[in-house]
Amino acid sequence: MVDETPLMKQYGEIKNQYQDSILFFRLGDFYEMFYEDAKLASKELGLTLTKRNKKMDVPLAGIPYHSASSYIAKLVSKGYKVAICEQVEDPKEVKGIVKREVIRVITPGTVIDTEYLDEKNNNYLMGIIIKDKSIGISYVDITTGEFKTSKIVGGNLIYKLMGEINKIFPKEIVIDEKSYGIIKNELESSRIFENLNITKVQNIKNPEKYLLEYFDIKSLDSFGIKNLDEIIQICATTLKYVVDLQKGNELPISKISYESTDNIMELNLTTQRNLDIVENYKGNDTGTLLGILDFCKSSMGSRLLKKIVKNPTLDIDEIHKRQNHIEYFIKEVLVREEIREKLKEIYDIERIIGKLTLETVNGRDLVALKESMRNILEIYKVLIDNNSDILKIDVDKIIEIYNLIEKVIIDEPPFSIREGGFIKDGYNTELDELRNIAEHGQDYLLKIETEEREKTGIKALKIKYNKVFGYFIEVTKANAELVPDYYIRKQTLVNAERYIVPELKEYEDKILNAKNRIATLEYYLFKEVVGEIKNYTQMLQDLSDKISYLDVISNLAYIAIKNSYIKPEIADDGTIEILGGRHPIVEKLIPAGEFVKNRVMLNSKKDFIILTGPNMSGKSTYMKQIALIIIMAHMGSYVPADYAKISLTDKIFTRIGASDDLLTGQSTFMLEMSEVANILNSATDRSFIILDEIGRGTSTFDGISIASAITEYIHDKIKAKTIFATHYHELTELGERLERASNFRIEVQEKDNKIKFLREIVQGGADKSYGIEVARLAGLPKEILVNSKKILNILEERKNIIERNFGVEQMMLFGGSPEVNDTKEEIENRENIETATSEERKVIDILKEIDINNFTPMEALLKINELKKILN
Ligand code: ADP
Repeated sequence: MVDETPLMKQYGEIKNQYQDSILFFRLGDFYEMFYEDAKLASKELGLTLTKRNKKMDVPLAGIPYHSASSYIAKLVSKGYKVAICEQVEDPKEVKGIVKREVIRVITPGTVIDTEYLDEKNNNYLMGIIIKDKSIGISYVDITTGEFKTSKIVGGNLIYKLMGEINKIFPKEIVIDEKSYGIIKNELESSRIFENLNITKVQNIKNPEKYLLEYFDIKSLDSFGIKNLDEIIQICATTLKYVVDLQKGNELPISKISYESTDNIMELNLTTQRNLDIVENYKGNDTGTLLGILDFCKSSMGSRLLKKIVKNPTLDIDEIHKRQNHIEYFIKEVLVREEIREKLKEIYDIERIIGKLTLETVNGRDLVALKESMRNILEIYKVLIDNNSDILKIDVDKIIEIYNLIEKVIIDEPPFSIREGGFIKDGYNTELDELRNIAEHGQDYLLKIETEEREKTGIKALKIKYNKVFGYFIEVTKANAELVPDYYIRKQTLVNAERYIVPELKEYEDKILNAKNRIATLEYYLFKEVVGEIKNYTQMLQDLSDKISYLDVISNLAYIAIKNSYIKPEIADDGTIEILGGRHPIVEKLIPAGEFVKNRVMLNSKKDFIILTGPNMSGKSTYMKQIALIIIMAHMGSYVPADYAKISLTDKIFTRIGASDDLLTGQSTFMLEMSEVANILNSATDRSFIILDEIGRGTSTFDGISIASAITEYIHDKIKAKTIFATHYHELTELGERLERASNFRIEVQEKDNKIKFLREIVQGGADKSYGIEVARLAGLPKEILVNSKKILNILEERKNIIERNFGVEQMMLFGGSPEVNDTKEEIENRENIETATSEERKVIDILKEIDINNFTPMEALLKINELKKILN
């Protein structure tokens, strides 16, 4: 049934244009939602669902307009779009139905109300387009005006795209029609980006023209994107999407920054996650590198640090610059601490600038901006007094902004800018006068009354008020002849005459309207100041970049001292040498001082390490710590080591344990192999690769063959610096045979048949499996351990026979069945088996049948138990 009142007709017409949004329809002091929107909103927001028109049965839910923002934030954070429809005419001045229009649409990636955003994260909207052999991406944060774009080329594009998405961490993605299907599929199947909001958009016909007009420029050369078709296309598409949602409201976007990925270390999605660089979509940042490093004092600093952590630079000058600045703040402890104290008092200038343009700024924001200017000047002074030129600012301009606000806005303004009460006295004469009238209106009338009495000599002259005439002067009939010419007679009563004078009417207007006029005038004056500050947008954006940088650098200096980091030497000769290295995250998770430091030496002569050691001995920790130290060095940060020389590293790859993945069986192996394939296709001789237990997802022989072949391929063809951790001691043979490879192991101490983890890396390969000892450490019952040992001995015996028969190398790479030359020992062995009891033979048969690779530890224990029962 359709409610066809004019209002609902209007609603229907508007809703038709915004079908994918929840329509907030303004009705007086409420935003109302109808039909499906009402049902949805009542479910998501816990609102009462009522009916607009009992007969017509229209579902309705409403919220008071002044508390709308929290409801909008809630819906948007759940991925909905909200269209705000306002009354655009004054209801008092129209007959019939008021005109209504949608004034803004808010989506997860285009939230403007920063109150509900996480201050340490940008709120990005990302655009993606696939074109031939490249992918164009762009991302924009409309609360700060940051608008960036870059291009993905070469290698596995989708892999790289996933890496970028994880870095940018958008709240919403827009994809053009043609690329939509492919990307949506990939995102959905990756299962990592489950909660991402994806919107399909149309490409713009003439994207270049659109951008030129929007930025009012002659050529895209100034942004460095001329002739980059996919970039121009995606920038225009993304920009148009956000512009359209604003319905004509201005945005703080003033330029496009093209980011070449050439100078940034490539960290794909898997690597970012394996190394716990920053939090993922589900978690927070505890236990991540960012969590260890981020003690920034401002949210702008935290946001910049996050970008630096995700984008280690390959620009050696930039690294040196950051190192030198950190060094300064390490030496100048007092300067650093004083500055960090003041940084705490600097507000989110970047977002305040955004609010200026988006017109969501209020008096409190301006006072915050003013206070920030004062603190920046104080920081500047501290630095200058201490001979540092790290902060280069235009002092005069900052003072101008400070004064502009100081002169106009009171120190503690109310939240709303609509009701007045925030402009300083003495700033505007008209306002002062109005306030005076509003507060002292009665006194003014008395003053006029006294003046008129004196002028006319009529003692009984009175100023009175009624609804018909407003204020008037009343004079008794007896005194009527004393009334001057300029009195205008309005009414004659029996005993009195009533007059008005222009002055009185002027005051009447003022008193009656003072309150409204004050609010309007203050709002106007506020907009005027905002307009003036807007002229400083570019300068303020630069300033916020500098302050963020200062925060990050002084923070990294603080962290370096707090965590005993040292300055790494940056090289370009392929050397990676770390002495006394530590894992920045793990060292925080175990009791202080217990972390065992380790060294590594990789260079063009020795670039491949085969690392053996029992489970839990510290192999992953060791490899990851090297990767993290490399990343930190490329951030310009100090690193957890006693000494480090780090060569520029273009990419870091990690392939870590198949068992870490939630997937199972064959698909795990597929996943593992496709990741390895990606590494092999993308790595260069300047890359660093971590391989942890490759080949685990398949049978032992398969695993060893593949692991060996991969090792040789990387060693011979790619020459990337690589550490390969494995529990196949067979691989140590390669460490001896390949020229640039070497074997290392994690030292364990065996005493009285017990094993102690020393966590120390030493040269040479391990030759034993320590699994059973680890099981003992874990507290498994003794019986089981004894039995495991027996079984292990049998298995090893069998393995030796096979190895001797086939030759390790052949076995690993080709299989095949060369001639069998039994040794005396083997013959004895077989004889032993032949003379075994029937129980023992049964056990042997069962063991033969077992496919270890398809066994969980629990199943293994159960099996051992079963075998034991047979023997008993
Ligand atoms: P693996 O990869 O060999 O199975 P891990 O690297 O996961 O072993 O290390 C297991 C645990 O040992 C870590 O969680 C950590 O608590 C501890 N550990 C690793 N390396 C060290 C070290 N160098 N110093 C102290 N404890 C360490």
